[in-house]
Amino acid sequence: ADAFDEECDYLFKAVLIGDSGVGKSNLLSRFAKDEFRLDSKPTIGVEFAYRNIKVGDKLIKAQIWDTAGQERSEFSCMVDHANFGLVFNESFRVFKPRFRAITSSYYRGALGALLVYDITMRSSYENVSKWLVELREFGGQDMVVVLVGNKCDLEQSREVEKEEGKGFAETEGLCFMETSALKNLNVEEVFLQMITKIYDMTS
Ligand code: GDP
Ligand code: MG
Repeated sequence: ADAFDEECDYLFKAVLIGDSGVGKSNLLSRFAKDEFRLDSKPTIGVEFAYRNIKVGDKLIKAQIWDTAGQERSEFSCMVDHANFGLVFNESFRVFKPRFRAITSSYYRGALGALLVYDITMRSSYENVSKWLVELREFGGQDMVVVLVGNKCDLEQSREVEKEEGKGFAETEGLCFMETSALKNLNVEEVFLQMITKIYDMTS
């Protein structure tokens, strides 16, 4: 372990989930490196990033995992890779054995999740309930889950009202926030909210 590791009091793993194209990778690069990419470069396999966060007098190393779900779309070449919702619907049952192995390692040990949808893409919001099914099957019991409505800078193209997302989150017992990775709105806040909640639960 490097010197920085030894200074950390805790290591928290958290995952990013949600349909392809909603902005997961950009939220992560904004949080970890303060970077934003206009071109959509799909995440291949699984990536993760670290950032050290101070909560009270403790130093927490947050390890955030990101995936595009390629492990699922590769099963179905008939389906548009950009539309992960379809892939999920059509391949889930057929390929479940392999899907389960990959999925369970993605969630293993995760204490938190950001479940992201795109406020300008209604289908990504409608798929949130499918992601919750997966989360509840593979994630830990006490996982901190934040529902995130991303791309709130695109108000003119909005297809999901803020109140709707917020209401759904309340019903499901999730935290809720709207963000913009592009304009850097609430990005820091949403990760900090998750990390602080995890800290409160574990201490
Ligand atoms: P992922 O598939 O969920 O990882 O999504 P990406 O992070 O690759 O983003 C998909 C596309 O949405 C890219 O073209 C990004 O530039 C764009 N994008 C991501 N976040 C935002 C945002 O907050 N606002 C806007 N306007 N575009 C965004
Ligand atoms: Mg990605």
